[in-house]
Amino acid sequence: MRLHRRTATAALAICGLAAAATAAPATAANPNNPDKLAKAVTVEAIRTHLNAFQSIADAHDGNRGAGTSGYEASGQYVEKTLRAAGYTTERQYFDFVYDHVISTSLDVVSPEARAITHAPMSYSPGTPVGGITAELVAPAVATGCEASDYAGVDVAGKIAVVSRGVCAFSQKALAAAEAGAAAAIVYNNADGALNGTLGGINDAFVPITGVTQAEGQALLAAMAAGPVVVKFDLQKTVENRTTFNIIAETKSGRDDNVVMLGAHLDGVHDGPGINDNGSGSASILETAVQLGKVNKLNNKVRFAWWGAEELGLLGSEHWVYDKVENDPAALDRIATYLNFDMVGSPNHIIGVYDANQSTYEAPVDVPEGSSETEQVFTDYFNKVGQPWVDTEFSGRSDYQAFIENGVPASGLFTGADGTKTEAEAAMFGGTAGVIYDPNYHTPKDDITNINWEAIDIMSNGIAYATMSLAQSTATINGVTSNGKSGKPAKPKKNADFQGHSALR
Ligand SMILES: [Zn+2]
Repeated sequence: MRLHRRTATAALAICGLAAAATAAPATAANPNNPDKLAKAVTVEAIRTHLNAFQSIADAHDGNRGAGTSGYEASGQYVEKTLRAAGYTTERQYFDFVYDHVISTSLDVVSPEARAITHAPMSYSPGTPVGGITAELVAPAVATGCEASDYAGVDVAGKIAVVSRGVCAFSQKALAAAEAGAAAAIVYNNADGALNGTLGGINDAFVPITGVTQAEGQALLAAMAAGPVVVKFDLQKTVENRTTFNIIAETKSGRDDNVVMLGAHLDGVHDGPGINDNGSGSASILETAVQLGKVNKLNNKVRFAWWGAEELGLLGSEHWVYDKVENDPAALDRIATYLNFDMVGSPNHIIGVYDANQSTYEAPVDVPEGSSETEQVFTDYFNKVGQPWVDTEFSGRSDYQAFIENGVPASGLFTGADGTKTEAEAAMFGGTAGVIYDPNYHTPKDDITNINWEAIDIMSNGIAYATMSLAQSTATINGVTSNGKSGKPAKPKKNADFQGHSALR
């Protein structure tokens, strides 16, 4: 509440436009230019959507994670809001592995009882209720990659203690099982915690968890002195589930030059996910609602609310690779993709994906047209006198699958687990030396975890860029006219990078 009140006031003082929500948005008939659309997308409306997401989380075990009832309810809210604004919505379903730890413990029972810090591997099966209590045993070959590495060792029903290295964790889980072990503990072969994944589920795996190198050495030393009995308890849900993306697009605008916006609708299972990523979801939702009032667009605008981003960008990958396989031309018809993942961080920056790599060298290939997409945002911020900074064009959100397939992209970001610098505090306020979202991926990412000034600035940027690009993507791909769909009017960014470069 404290944060909320302070920042709302600041927003009025600084911006004075969209935050002054007395301009009843319902009467804004036709917000048909970028400034009008930015004004029509209000903080109050976005707050209504975010309150809805919070209420949904409250009513559904405190989260809106993929494959849960909270996600389903979030989807229904988005669909209901879109339909009321005149859109037809589409659900694209896909399967994923729901892998959720309910509780876990690892304890030495004897000779001297103590708890062990550990991290169960992703996709590990759980243990029976009550856990597995058994003696520890080490394979003859420390890395335990083959059942034969256990030759001469009495391993049946025991818990194998295995070193990291040589092969994948999944292979260690299979080898331990084949040798007859009941479970496995893998210790690191370097400093630091071991957070492993088996890459997917397999009925043949034994339950498996990771510990530090020091812990592994302590266990091996104790085993050398006599039998060590450990209890490993891992209660979890691992099962195939179905989730979905929601897609909606404007009726107006040429469909061979589509502007696409996306935000992930799912949150982590550990909290309501209001900044990550209710903020992006709500901002593009309100942009869609207001854009629905515009009579005529040059370019079609398509909105996506992605599922299962937090489990590895699954929804956006599914959508893009489904097109790659079944309708590759549909990707060529996307002029650019705009991504919004966290746009209301409490200790925010105003960040723009650094597609032109003016600050950060990108660790991924940046498609042609991405720099020009970035520039739509930066030109807007410059125009209104809003300071901004670059954030790395890393591919670590739902634009990854798009850029992998040559679709230009950019987006906005107010910061996650990075730390605010002195320079950023001078530009944006907030606290230097503190991370941008101290409640990132925690139960405290709730409605009080939103900086409304950041939402105001970013939602204006989203709306402005959306309308600018709906009018023209000329700077991105040379398309200027309101052509008929299917007309071979434009140079294709994907088909011919050379031709595109020559045009600019
Ligand atoms: Zn996110």
